[in-house]
Amino acid sequence: MLPSANEHAITVDLDLDRPREECGVLAIASTSDDVARSAFFGLYALQHRGQEAAGIAVSDGRAVRTHKGVGLVNQVFQPGTLDPLVGGLAIGHTRYSTTGSNSERNVQPYVVETIHGPLGVAHNGNLVNADQLRTKLLERGAGLQSSSDSEVLALMLAGAEGANWEERLAAVMPSWEGAFSLVILAASKVIAVRDPWGFRPLSVGRLPSGGHAVASETGALRTLGCETSREVEPGEVVVLQNDIARSVRAMPPREQLARCTFEHIYFSRPDATWDGLLVHQARQRLGEELAREHPVEADVVIPVPDSSTPAAIGYGNASGIPYNEGFVKNRYIGRTFIEPTDDLRRQGVALKFNTLPTNIDGMRVIVIDDSIVRGTTSSQLIRMIREAGAREVHVRITCPPVISPCFFGVDMGSYDELIAHQLEVPEIADHIGADSLGFLSVPRMMKALGRDDGYCNACFTGEYPVPVQLSLDISKQRFDGVIQ
Ligand code: SF4
Repeated sequence: MLPSANEHAITVDLDLDRPREECGVLAIASTSDDVARSAFFGLYALQHRGQEAAGIAVSDGRAVRTHKGVGLVNQVFQPGTLDPLVGGLAIGHTRYSTTGSNSERNVQPYVVETIHGPLGVAHNGNLVNADQLRTKLLERGAGLQSSSDSEVLALMLAGAEGANWEERLAAVMPSWEGAFSLVILAASKVIAVRDPWGFRPLSVGRLPSGGHAVASETGALRTLGCETSREVEPGEVVVLQNDIARSVRAMPPREQLARCTFEHIYFSRPDATWDGLLVHQARQRLGEELAREHPVEADVVIPVPDSSTPAAIGYGNASGIPYNEGFVKNRYIGRTFIEPTDDLRRQGVALKFNTLPTNIDGMRVIVIDDSIVRGTTSSQLIRMIREAGAREVHVRITCPPVISPCFFGVDMGSYDELIAHQLEVPEIADHIGADSLGFLSVPRMMKALGRDDGYCNACFTGEYPVPVQLSLDISKQRFDGVIQ
C-alpha cells in the first residue's frame, strides 16, 4: 500500500540519468471561494516538475489554511482534503528537493505568521548565496525549521522594512542572488516574483470566470482556462488582488538575462511557451540542427521518449531518414514507493522501457536523446537496442556535453558525477557502447532557438551568469546535518 501523505516515504527513482526538474509553482486569485480545486488541477499539470511533494495554501482574506505532504499530487490530496481550504486566494507547489532533503519539514508552501499577517511562500529555483543569508538570519536570532533556502526567503521577507509586501519585496530582492520564481500568499493578495536574470519561467494569465492565475508553465494556465498569458518579466512583481493584476518593477532586469536552456531541452512540457517559443517546436528545431551538425547514414531515427520525440521528428525531417518508435515507455513508473527486488533493480531502465524489435531488427539506428548527464542509462538503452537486432547504433544528443553542475536549482550532480567532465566525446561513445556519438554544439543550439544571447548555458560552458563558489557543496542535503 502507498504511504499516506503524512508518512515519511522512500521513493525509488527510476528516472535515473536525467537532470532533475526543479519545482513547479502556481497561484490563483479568483472571484470564487472554491479556489483550492482549481489549484489542485493546476498542480496536476505541473506534476512533471516535482514528484516528491506537493502542497496548497489558501486564504479567505483573514486566515491561511494549508495542506501539504510527501508524494505525488493525487497522493497528497485525497477526497475531502480540499474541503477545509476555503477562500479565493491560493498558492501551490510541486517539489523535487533541490536544497533540503525530501522530508516533511521541507515541503512547500511555507506559511509563517508575521507581524503583518500570515505569509505563504512557494519557490522554484536556488539562491547561490543561501548559506550567507541563513547565517545572517541565525545571527539575528531567527529560528529555522527547515533545511530549504525557500524558508530563508520567507523569513527575510517577514522581517523586511516597508509599508506593504511589495515594498518589503523591493527591499530584500537585491540581496537574493540566483534563481527565484516565487508565488507569495498574503491575507488579501497573491504576488508573483521573478528574479532579474529570468532563470526560471513564470507566467500570468486571466481566468475565464474572473481573476488571474500564475504558473511555472503556460500549459498549466491553459488547463485552468486562461486563453492568453504573458511572462512575469525578469525583476517584475505582479500583485493579484480584487480581480486586478498590478505590475511593480521591483528591480531592473539584468543586462544579460539567463533563461535556463534546459527548459527547452527537457524540463518543460512540449505545450509550454518559453521565451515566446513553443517548446515542442523548439525541440523539433534542435533535432533539425542536430541532423545538419552530425549527419550519419542510417535506416531509422528513434527517440528516447518522451522529451526527445519532437527532436527525433526534426532529425528525421531534416535528414530524410524515416522516423519511427523504437521504445515504449511506461509513463507511470518514474518514481515508485515500492522498492524493486535486486533482480528487478539489475534490469535498470528495462523496468521503464521496452523495445519494439520489428522497428529496429537488422537496421542502422539513430537514437535521439535529450542529454547524457551521468551516463548511467545510455549504455543500458543501447544494449537493449542491440538485443532487439540493430546492426549499428548512432547516438545523437540535442544539447552540448554537460561539463559543469547547475547552481540554480537543477540537480545534475557534482563534477565527479558528470561523465562529460571526466571523458571526451569519443571516450563517452566507447563507454556507452555506441558506434558513433554526436552532441549539438552551443552555437548550433542557440541557432536552433533563434537566439544570440539571454540564456544560461553554464552547465555546457562552465561560465556562470552569477558568480558561484565552485567549491560549494551543492548536495541538496547540505543543511540537514544542522537540522535533524
Ligand atoms: S546551469 Fe544549465 S540547468 Fe542550470 S540554469 Fe543554467 S542552463 Fe539551466
